[in-house]
Amino acid sequence: MKNFYIETLGCQMNKSDSERISGILSHFGYFETENEKEAQLLIINTCSIRQLSEDKAYSKLGVWGKRKKSNPEIKIAICGCVAQQDKEKIRKRAPYVDLIFGTHNIYELPDLIKHIENGEKICAVTNTPVIRNNNDFKIIRKPSVNAWIPIIEGCNNFCTYCVVPFTRGRERSRKPEEIIKEAQNIINEGFKEITLLGQNVDSYGKDFNDKNITLANLLRELNKIEGDFRIRFVTSYPSDITDDLINAVDECDKVCKYFHIPMQSGNSRILKEMNRHYTKQQYYEIVSKIRSRFPDVAITSDFIAGFPGETEEEFLDTLNAIEELELDYSNTAAYSPREFTKAGKMTDKFLPEDVKYERLERLNEKNKQACLKSNEKFTGKILKVLVENKTEKDGNIILNSRADNNKIVHFTDKTKKIGDFAFVKITKAQTWCLFGEPVE
Ligand code: SF4
Repeated sequence: MKNFYIETLGCQMNKSDSERISGILSHFGYFETENEKEAQLLIINTCSIRQLSEDKAYSKLGVWGKRKKSNPEIKIAICGCVAQQDKEKIRKRAPYVDLIFGTHNIYELPDLIKHIENGEKICAVTNTPVIRNNNDFKIIRKPSVNAWIPIIEGCNNFCTYCVVPFTRGRERSRKPEEIIKEAQNIINEGFKEITLLGQNVDSYGKDFNDKNITLANLLRELNKIEGDFRIRFVTSYPSDITDDLINAVDECDKVCKYFHIPMQSGNSRILKEMNRHYTKQQYYEIVSKIRSRFPDVAITSDFIAGFPGETEEEFLDTLNAIEELELDYSNTAAYSPREFTKAGKMTDKFLPEDVKYERLERLNEKNKQACLKSNEKFTGKILKVLVENKTEKDGNIILNSRADNNKIVHFTDKTKKIGDFAFVKITKAQTWCLFGEPVE
């Protein structure tokens, strides 16, 4: 038995890939350890969405490279988006790396591992997936109440700032029967929540040439699985949210009333520059349609501060959008130029770093205010929550849970444990969470 350690940077898709990598390795005598110092195989699953994430990957490789000098038996592998995009750069910067494998090459791992065990250095990066039969290997999921299921990978949208279409390729949906089987297994294993994953989850099925294969219909099928569990889906592309999808969310009692819909900018000119296929007005209409259908829904978003050429007035449109749309939470980031992307070549329009980061600060402040306002709306309401974990404070056990609409709720109840559903009356709202007491 050999130990491996895997460090995962970036999004949920990467975390889900890491679970698949763990499953594959477990078939070949490897055992996952949380302690990197006792691992014979070190893997970093990387993210290239921002320069900072990329820098983190190289810094980790540097630390591992020093360790390999004193113990040459250690094998080092790098995968994920940086590996997919930058194999030559990795070879130059970290020649001690034994294995580079891309986002399309995870299912080649059994062969790749044999080669590096024989002392070879391998680089397996292709532009199309090598095999994609997810049910061949057991997936080793981390202990949790939630399990991720990737349903579509890649993206066809080519937003001008984003590397995903280059690192993950074009959209490829998994067959519905494969997803339903995986979901059934997850529920049998005792998980209480399924999150369907996709860079653009609402595009699910468009590549199948069968108009019945849609995210809405997949939700309807998954909702039929027996058991006490709930279903989420992320990430939604604004203009791909159809009326049928909204209907399905409404019809299906297990589907959470929660939408994560990145807006990216509150200004239509910037949206066009970003190659986002909707205007500010269209985004407002989608939000209003969802809110009028589900009164306690939470809508969260993503925003970029300081996109090339963004003026102060255009940035103010973003701040106004967060307020006017009453967004419940937003992920924020300063624009970070990425290789291969169109925006990355708009160098004459790049904003100075201090301008970008000053805008980011204001964006974060606006987000904070919006979150508090959103949380305050729930004071006095009763929410159904799922207990995710527990902590101890002053001798009391606090249950940390998440409501259907993704709000974090803390409460105390000696009769409940991790994985239980409960009804909680909200008594206090803070910026990032809610507090409550259990009700029958
Ligand atoms: S929709 Fe745009 S931001 Fe999202 S993954 Fe596709 S290209 Fe990237």
